[in-house]
Amino acid sequence: MPVRVRPPAPEREPMTTSVLFLTLYDLVILMKKQRFWIFILVFLIALAVVAQIFIARNQTEGDKVCIYRDNTLLYCLPLNQDTTITIPYGEDNFNTVEIKDGMVSVTDASCPDHICIHHGATNETADPIICLPNHLIIQVEREEDSNLDGVSS
Ligand SMILES: [Zn+2]
Repeated sequence: MPVRVRPPAPEREPMTTSVLFLTLYDLVILMKKQRFWIFILVFLIALAVVAQIFIARNQTEGDKVCIYRDNTLLYCLPLNQDTTITIPYGEDNFNTVEIKDGMVSVTDASCPDHICIHHGATNETADPIICLPNHLIIQVEREEDSNLDGVSS
């Protein structure tokens, strides 16, 4: 029968204990550092996800340019897509609306006063471009605004 011999218990001298303690301490520090980096990594991933959602939201539900005539919606166009449209009115009247670099402006119009052209470019919801002779309102609309309206009403 083989006889199991227990290895002698390690003698715990003060020196050995302190070295062991230091090693464990270093290990704890390392683990803490790893946790720190994992935390940073998770934080960055979360930030990237949030940024991506925010960008996707901006692309799909960003600012829009809505054009009304006599309270009837004619067009709703995204403000982040450069485009130019000419909106006819009656026989000879028109407004040319340009969306460029996130701003909307009237670049040409048949109206006599040309107030709509002189208004210049805007991306403000509180600053609609109005052409009274052609009964046209060009309004920048923001998704947050309608959400706030929904909450408050
Ligand atoms: Zn005008």
